[in-house]
Amino acid sequence: MITKEITQVGNPLIRAKAKKVTNLKSKKVQQIIADLADSMKHYNLVGMAAPQIGKSFRIFVSEIRETKLRKDQSVKNVDQLRIYINPQIIWRSKKQVIGYEGCGSVAFANIFGSVKRPKSVIVKAQDKDGNIFKLKADNLLARVIQHEYDHLDGIVFTDKADPKSFMSRNEHLKKFKK
Ligand SMILES: [Zn+2]
Repeated sequence: MITKEITQVGNPLIRAKAKKVTNLKSKKVQQIIADLADSMKHYNLVGMAAPQIGKSFRIFVSEIRETKLRKDQSVKNVDQLRIYINPQIIWRSKKQVIGYEGCGSVAFANIFGSVKRPKSVIVKAQDKDGNIFKLKADNLLARVIQHEYDHLDGIVFTDKADPKSFMSRNEHLKKFKK
């Protein structure tokens, strides 16, 4: 089910530390996973975390693809739908890169700003069946993983963005047109 409205910053849920998932195979958790994937696609996002659909659990999803909101060079490495439950970022590269981010929970992804983050990370998490996996991610996927992981600790990209970099969605689309 697509969430009717993405939870916005200002709602305490977005600032809360999300709870660890203990009953991974429950209907409730499986429903959250399905709703996250549906909502991410519907709202043209490349990642989404459970608190954004009003569920304070340590779950997020990613799917790197071109969307109405993101048509720039950063989406050239398409990546499948991935589900991360109880994730941990176990390694971050020393090399950092600057990239533009928006967020469904910040003015419904109408504001973009640049954030400096490690270029690559290794994330360890459980998939929807509870199997533990490790994934090394680079570039936009690494950025999405870090952005979504922050949501589970109540951190929003605007906390980390260069305040001089903020621009509207349309300005961002124009500036980074392919
Ligand atoms: Zn976000």
